[in-house]
Amino acid sequence: MKKVIVSMVIIAGMAMIFAQQTQAQRQNWRPESTEWYTPVPPKVKPGVGTQPPSDAIILFDGTDLSKWESQKPPAEGSRTPDPAPWKIVNGEMRVVPKSGGIQTKEYFGDCQLHIEFKSPPAENYHGQSRGNSGIFLQNTYELQVLDGDNNHTYVNGMVGSIYKQSAPLVDAYTKNGEWQVYDIFWKAPVFDSNGLVSPAMITVTLNGILIQNNYILKGGTPYTGLPSYTPHGRLPLSLQDHGTEVAFRNIWIRNL
Ligand code: MG
Repeated sequence: MKKVIVSMVIIAGMAMIFAQQTQAQRQNWRPESTEWYTPVPPKVKPGVGTQPPSDAIILFDGTDLSKWESQKPPAEGSRTPDPAPWKIVNGEMRVVPKSGGIQTKEYFGDCQLHIEFKSPPAENYHGQSRGNSGIFLQNTYELQVLDGDNNHTYVNGMVGSIYKQSAPLVDAYTKNGEWQVYDIFWKAPVFDSNGLVSPAMITVTLNGILIQNNYILKGGTPYTGLPSYTPHGRLPLSLQDHGTEVAFRNIWIRNL
């Protein structure tokens, strides 16, 4: 019986290939029949060295925090958010512990994001307390920033993890005090009036090494409990204040 089924499947497959060939022959296909010339992809000039590509939105170039604002509720009587409370030292943006997170004034969906970070001195901190910050795509989904230099913690919360969902494929962190380079490719979740249509997906390299490969998110990245989705549209990119003086530089983003 099995043999009969296998034979039937093979015959059906051959018949399909034959049908496709005869259709191609009937239509007189040529190589050019499956080539197109428009629309022409926009020309983008790649960055040289640490320079961003020509179509990137520069979120931080070492000089000012004008693209960012405080995540804390605005001061009493003010309708506009407070300025980003972090500081700039030697062209680096540094977390001011206890000042709160910061977020971009602009909202984003699908994007490519480049961001570099440096962990502060380890001192006597361990695990989640050492060099903790976070990159929140659409203000909701955390790619963990943590000192990964000989720092034991749960692997789905280590540097390069999608917090409490996905450990990195490999540990590509170098050394405490050295700059770490993230490149992030983000596919935003899609919602309609009935809820989730397609989940978020993320690809990440750390120092040029693939650490998240088209990971499909299960929802937000809460500290406690299981992930779930709450519908939203475009939202700011935000950076976490977790009480340590993590530094950032060269932040740019491309809308996709
Ligand atoms: Mg964090």
